[in-house]
Amino acid sequence: ETGERALIAGLVGDRPGVWDLAGEIPTAVLRELGRQGLLCAQVPERYTGRGYTSERNGELTAYVGSLCSSLRSVMTSQGMAAWTVQRLADAGQRQAYLPLLTGGKLAAVAFSETEAGSDLSAIGTRITEGGDEVVVDGAKVWVTGASYADLVLVVGRCTDGAGVVVVPADAPGVRIEKVADPLGCRAAGHASVRLDSVRLPSSALLGGGGQPLPLLVTTALAYGRMSVAWGCVGILRACLDAVTEHARTRYQSGRPLAEHQLVVRHLAELLVAEQSATRVSEHASRCWDGGAPDQVTATVLAKYLSSVHAVRGAASAVQVLASAGATDGHVVARAYRDAKLMEIIEGSSEICQLILGQHALSR
Ligand code: FAD
Repeated sequence: ETGERALIAGLVGDRPGVWDLAGEIPTAVLRELGRQGLLCAQVPERYTGRGYTSERNGELTAYVGSLCSSLRSVMTSQGMAAWTVQRLADAGQRQAYLPLLTGGKLAAVAFSETEAGSDLSAIGTRITEGGDEVVVDGAKVWVTGASYADLVLVVGRCTDGAGVVVVPADAPGVRIEKVADPLGCRAAGHASVRLDSVRLPSSALLGGGGQPLPLLVTTALAYGRMSVAWGCVGILRACLDAVTEHARTRYQSGRPLAEHQLVVRHLAELLVAEQSATRVSEHASRCWDGGAPDQVTATVLAKYLSSVHAVRGAASAVQVLASAGATDGHVVARAYRDAKLMEIIEGSSEICQLILGQHALSR
């Protein structure tokens, strides 16, 4: 663990603020982390992955999230792509794609469309099967990591049911266009992906397609939600560190901020947020690792609670740092912008509440 953290710290250095302002992470950094298998560390060893448990991968995700939410977002997409392949592909496709994902190739997962946001049943992208090829037509929006991706996993409708097709970013008919000036996670490579009559061999359609759309979506999102939950733990840890350091060293009215009770309350609330987010994420990962029947609910709960706490915690951190944290590249300023987006993705807070409310009713 120490070795991998040192490797990541060495590659990231003090550059996340600069990456955030530039809206870009150097591809060499992403490829190196990819080659080390660290962007999707749960891939089993038999597919050349690191074979981490969800809990160990979660702690790694939190560590990356504490340094740079843009990088952590790319990691979430890569992990979600790998998990989708692991779950939906046939044996040959797993052998073909997973070593690529642990070998430096970068991937993104595309569900969302202009008219299909929270309601993915409105997906209109078509995967037309014919002979030994498939043709993909559609337009995806806000795909994290797509501007870096070699492969985009595209969710669409098949003749029968739905499917996920692995589309090389350089295939004829694919057009990837970066989202201009996102609110947060600015270097995460969000992009729209247009697919116009993209012809691919039928081996690109995972598991042959024809699966129920809700199954595909739930499978991929399960990983994404877990990853976001742990990423938010990282945001909270970064905020807690910045705030405690500042409260100890900044003096006002003749005393350190840490001796002003109203500031201490912010510290206490941040600690509670970080600990609560850690505990629910650990619980969800342990459910995942143990194959517990309620792992879906545990994951939604972890994503919901961690992202809500991250939003509040980052706001408190900016409050305590005040002018010292109120510039664009500062860790708490980034946290403030990045955290808000975590309440929107992989099932917004409202969608999580709907799922949790249904769970409450069914108990
Ligand atoms: P809408 O669905 O229009 O929702 C608007 C508001 O209404 C939200 O507050 C929502 O919670 C609420 N709402 C909607 N329906 C209901 C309901 N039934 N009940 C109660 N409230 C409701 N997509 C991908 O496919 N791949 C990615 O990698 C990806 N990465 C993203 C990264 C970022 C930073 C962002 C911002 C988006 C990303 N998305 C990605 C898209 C993301 O999944 C959608 O933005 C999200 O699902 C919400 O959809 P929407 O933005 O269209 O909002």
